[in-house]
Amino acid sequence: NVRVRFCPSPTGSPHVGFARAALYNWVFARKHKGTFVFRIEDTDKERSTQESYAAMVETLQWLGLDWDEGPGVEGPHAPYRQSERGHLYRDVLARLAESSYTYDCFCTTDEVTARRKAAGSKVQGYDGFCRDLTPEQRAAFEAEGRPSVVRFRMPDGPITWTDLVRGEVTFETEFVPDFALCRANGDPLYTLVNPVDDAMMRITHVLRGEDLLSSTPRQIPLHRALVDLGVSEGVPEFGHLPLIMGEGNKKLSKRDPEAHLFTYRDAGFIPEGLLNYLALLGWAISGDRDIFTLDEMIEAFEIGDVNPNPARFDLKKAEAINTAHMRLLSIEEITHRVIPFLKRDGVLSDPVSDADAQMLELAMPLVAERINKLAEASAMLGFLFVDEDDFTIDPEDAEKQLGEAGQPVIKASYGALSALHTWSTDAIQTALQDALVEGLGLKPRNAFGPVRVAVTGRRISPPLFESLELLGRDRSLGRLQRALA
Ligand code: GLU
Repeated sequence: NVRVRFCPSPTGSPHVGFARAALYNWVFARKHKGTFVFRIEDTDKERSTQESYAAMVETLQWLGLDWDEGPGVEGPHAPYRQSERGHLYRDVLARLAESSYTYDCFCTTDEVTARRKAAGSKVQGYDGFCRDLTPEQRAAFEAEGRPSVVRFRMPDGPITWTDLVRGEVTFETEFVPDFALCRANGDPLYTLVNPVDDAMMRITHVLRGEDLLSSTPRQIPLHRALVDLGVSEGVPEFGHLPLIMGEGNKKLSKRDPEAHLFTYRDAGFIPEGLLNYLALLGWAISGDRDIFTLDEMIEAFEIGDVNPNPARFDLKKAEAINTAHMRLLSIEEITHRVIPFLKRDGVLSDPVSDADAQMLELAMPLVAERINKLAEASAMLGFLFVDEDDFTIDPEDAEKQLGEAGQPVIKASYGALSALHTWSTDAIQTALQDALVEGLGLKPRNAFGPVRVAVTGRRISPPLFESLELLGRDRSLGRLQRALA
């Protein structure tokens, strides 16, 4: 029975690497009809925040990656927040010490550094000084009132495992010194709680970012000790997902805005599109296809096919993939999803009036195929919902289109449209073409720009003739008139 976990530390805003790890674990669980555990690694009290925790939960919910055990759902291994599991860690620490898997260490960092230097050692980290203290040495340290930490006694010999992504990986233990499992005040550290929870929660596969690769040679011997003590039923398998590189082939940094998940949500990416893009950061469904659904990914995903080489983050590609998924949504669905953005941007009031709802229903077919992200609808549709007193024109577009060259166009358009008996898309189109292309001799490509800017306020808008019909005769003529200098 496959059990995987996703265990972010709630210390900031959820980023792309976080979401990819969640996705791969979730897909792996679904593929193998296993269990997806969501655990909160909030042992670092200074850095963990409730706000970040809420953001982690919100992200998974927004992406639709539901968890089988974890906050809100609970489950047989509750609690799923490490801050509530302190008694379990203390118990395990006591048992490890009893079986001499650990020892108390009284050294200061300065002492270790001085000894390493004196010995001309190239190896960093702890040198094992306190491994085998005599009772007298120990008593002397205690009498000095020295604080102590608990260290894990690394076994001799290399640590090797078959990584699910990278194949065989070996670390020589001389480069993996005995490590601390808790602070001097007894607070447990990540080095202890992460493997202990994986053991107690019966995690079978650990899939996580390559940045954690170097912790695996410490965790495997600790897992073995936990098996020996009966805390665990077996050592999990490990797979390390490739790094994600941003601009200039540097690791995508938390300082980059495009590293943050909410940037995408707030710009109106849809979860289907973003998940598809995240999936491609280390995996491909096939050589010639990059648009797929979650169900198709579950069907095709093999952890062994994940590429160990760094993945390159490409915003343009993310947008193109999002667009492809937008085109798969029905008009009703896009409308439903666009509404919160239109409210956010002040285009629609909350609640939406009946008249606005009707207008939106008529207008959405005009824009649905023209937006790549949900939030783009606001700028496209604003002109239909704005009060005439509040209607404004983009100053740059006004300067380009409504200046000297634009004025005769506006005048002729006003004349032609005010003479119309029927206000329909077809009639509007014929009247404007006659007036501008025939009448003024303008090239069709340039003819309508001034009209568009005058009535929609921008150079980019839904199709012009339909827009004029929707806007209605009075408002359209009023805006043309106001555009006349
Ligand atoms: N809590 C760790 C982090 O946020 C994840 C550790 C793991 O996946 O093993 O980076």
